[in-house]
Amino acid sequence: STPGSVRFDSVVKKFGNVTALKDLNLTIDPGKLVTLLGPSGCGKTTTLRLIAGLEMATAGAIHIGGEDVTHLTATYRKVSMVFQSYALFPHMTVRQNVAYGLTVKSMPKAEAAQKADHGLELVGLSGFGDRLPSELSGGQQQRVAVARAIVLEPEVLLLDEPLSNLDAKLRRHVREEIRQIQQRLGLTAVYVTHDQEEAMAVSDRIIVMKNAEIAQEGTPKDLYEAPQSAFIADFIGDANLAECHIDSISAGLATVRLDGQTYQVKDGALQTGAAKMVLRPHNLRLADATQPGIQGSVTYAAYLGKEIQYTVESAIGSLFVISGITERPFAQGDSVSVQFDANHARLVAV
Ligand code: ADP
Ligand code: MG
Repeated sequence: STPGSVRFDSVVKKFGNVTALKDLNLTIDPGKLVTLLGPSGCGKTTTLRLIAGLEMATAGAIHIGGEDVTHLTATYRKVSMVFQSYALFPHMTVRQNVAYGLTVKSMPKAEAAQKADHGLELVGLSGFGDRLPSELSGGQQQRVAVARAIVLEPEVLLLDEPLSNLDAKLRRHVREEIRQIQQRLGLTAVYVTHDQEEAMAVSDRIIVMKNAEIAQEGTPKDLYEAPQSAFIADFIGDANLAECHIDSISAGLATVRLDGQTYQVKDGALQTGAAKMVLRPHNLRLADATQPGIQGSVTYAAYLGKEIQYTVESAIGSLFVISGITERPFAQGDSVSVQFDANHARLVAV
């Protein structure tokens, strides 16, 4: 058996007549941070609670560290959970909060306090042990919650939207810290978020969920560069989805017609016929309308400092275009030609 690994075999979870998870199969390798990403209600929290033993599977099997834990309740599983609301006890000091789970497990107080101080050190909060939670910032409180979870030396650390209560700037900082702690300690972690950028920033792998099922799984790069559906293309990063027609496929390249032009595009395991071409906004280029490309006109131009964003109404629909600030700028009302490199395009089913 492998400590820290997690495996679901055909797990089903029903709440009355609501099917929260349909037939979930997943494997999480030890020492990795894997994120469950998806819209609200898709089953992320339910999956975490099943790993924690806070919910029992309706069908299927769950293994943690190679051990069948399907019928074990939370107390008997070596996992700990960090919640969105830090859930710290307000009247206890930071040290007492971190030590709490250890004293519950009947560890002598002095030893628990020592472990708590070590935990606080790991999250960069040594010296804060005597304070009350209210004397810390939101980001620091969430790190206390992480310390409280890791002092229990879990085989798997579970984090359910841990940054939701923090403001945008702090979120980026704390997500980096969580990722570094996880890597430094070699912890297996399952992280839940509905924020795709956050998922890409912290994860070794991402499991994208939709309607109680896995939509696609892979590294952040896999998901962005090789989306297997319009849903994934649109959910991971920004995408223009242009209706096109696959005329033929040979040697992994599809011959595709789009707006009267023919392109060679990686086939995306599709068949001939109607399809959608995934065009990332920064892979589109604007040129003078006299140049070859898809004809359109700029209906919106926004200078954002790091880039310029355009909306172009074109023969193939509205296109979102991002261009570098060193490229030639266009203004609202300009007639343009939209060009792209078919090597960067992808095909998905309609
Ligand atoms: P997510 O965390 O992705 O937002 P959840 O796992 O919380 O989604 O919920 C998945 C589905 O299961 C939703 O339809 C939700 O309403 C339902 N659900 C979750 N927990 C319960 C429960 N205790 N009782 C009834 N339905 C529930
Ligand atoms: Mg949830």
